[in-house]
Amino acid sequence: VISRFGQHADIETADGIVSRCNIRRAVTSLVTGDKVVVRLATEVQSGSSIGGIVIAVHPRTSSLTRPDLYDGVKIIAANIDQILIVSSVLPSFTTQIIDRYLVASEDTDIPPIIILNKIDLLDDTNRDEIERALTRYQDIGYPVYRVSSHTGEGVENIKELLNNKVSVFAGQSGVGKSSLINALMPEAELLIGDVSDNSGLGQHTTTTAKLLHFVSGGDLIDSPGIREFALWHLDAIRVGWCFIEFREFLGTCKFRDCKHGDDPGCALQQALADGKITQDRFSNYQRIIASLDEQRHARHFRA
Ligand code: GDP
Ligand code: ZN
Repeated sequence: VISRFGQHADIETADGIVSRCNIRRAVTSLVTGDKVVVRLATEVQSGSSIGGIVIAVHPRTSSLTRPDLYDGVKIIAANIDQILIVSSVLPSFTTQIIDRYLVASEDTDIPPIIILNKIDLLDDTNRDEIERALTRYQDIGYPVYRVSSHTGEGVENIKELLNNKVSVFAGQSGVGKSSLINALMPEAELLIGDVSDNSGLGQHTTTTAKLLHFVSGGDLIDSPGIREFALWHLDAIRVGWCFIEFREFLGTCKFRDCKHGDDPGCALQQALADGKITQDRFSNYQRIIASLDEQRHARHFRA
């Protein structure tokens, strides 16, 4: 599935041809990245502008969700192999945002990869601090790539990373996701301000996720919602588990409902004191826990 529009979906077949298809009513969930069974128009009726009918969806290897006001969470894309978390030297490099995306990735069980963009802006004032932070992530086991979408440094390594995979790019606005995608796939500019079907309501910018092919191999699934997926449907226990190096300590606190604050007997505090987890990750964990309630509140306010 290249993308979905209401009761229609653009389906690419193995020969690379894309057809707009109807979705059979029995197919209750269909998103970009799904693998489907279609009955093509030649088998349905010729002379129709509809290319076929989607009759079934294959089981998903992964799904990316976003919070939904009514459903709790909503699936926005399927069968994603990796999430590329883009950070940058400027505007201010921050591990808080990286950790939020890492938690979201771990929650969906899709492997995350950290990318530092704008390395052309590294200098003596910022290099050491950023490198220390990136090394901490590598120590935990996360792959880290360094790139400049402006100079092209490191872009080839990213191309290799993308090959044969379905990837999504996530990260704060301004880190250079569009620039990086353009460096990897110049034709992706099409994505910006892309106009969806003429539904009679006037043209509007599509927010549906879209699958694109990299010329160098591999696929990209992109949409504004994917780039900034959020966390507020998670609870504190789940967030702790999503800090992967905390896992071995979480079950061994003295109190079963330990909040991992200052209570004596907290195994996570002990791990911190022993240098087995870092202060930076622990602080970010606490910030996320504290923000969950605020986010929930904001959600009810909006609703
Ligand atoms: P997005 O919001 O994440 O899609 O970020 P954009 O791609 O729109 O980039 C934000 C700003 O960062 C733009 O002014 C880009 O020109 C700039 N930018 C992107 N990549 C680089 C880079 O590698 N080096 C430098 N110096 N600037 C970059
Ligand atoms: Zn504890």
